[in-house]
Amino acid sequence: MKRREISLSNEDKEMCSVSGCGKPPKRSLPRKRVEKVGSLTLQGSNRKVHLCSDCYRIFKKETKKDRAMESLGR
Ligand SMILES: [Zn+2]
Repeated sequence: MKRREISLSNEDKEMCSVSGCGKPPKRSLPRKRVEKVGSLTLQGSNRKVHLCSDCYRIFKKETKKDRAMESLGR
């Protein structure tokens, strides 16, 4: 009998995509947006990533900063 490999996408659903985190995800976001946040290291290669509430908070904080800088530049 062959052993079935557990699909990565299944695993991805239950865990935060930030490497070393492993908490239950709360939000699903496009990878590109999260990749811009330097303080979050993503694992896997799915186009969508999942963030737990803690990592989402970091993401929001970082993107807010980014947006503020953008508006200052104009
Ligand atoms: Zn997390």
